[in-house]
Amino acid sequence: MAETAGGLDLAPCPSCEGYGWFEDELDGSVSDCDWCQGCGYVYRDVQGVDRPIPPEDYGRIAAELERLEAERLRKLGYTGSAKRPGED
Ligand SMILES: [Zn+2]
Repeated sequence: MAETAGGLDLAPCPSCEGYGWFEDELDGSVSDCDWCQGCGYVYRDVQGVDRPIPPEDYGRIAAELERLEAERLRKLGYTGSAKRPGED
């Protein structure tokens, strides 16, 4: 669990489990997660309450998010880039 400057932990979104999106099992379509706005992570405060990360915070925590994402993908067995094709 990573400590941020504000004393909030970053945790994988409980709704999409860190993916940031959902895949519809019926038609295979993909949609962004409403809860984390597609970033895959939320703030978790000391009471264990999750809250969405404000978009203005993304720049400040981008490096940390990237590290957590790489870690998550490694656990899943992926190697290499954490970015989806076409993403820059
Ligand atoms: Zn989510």
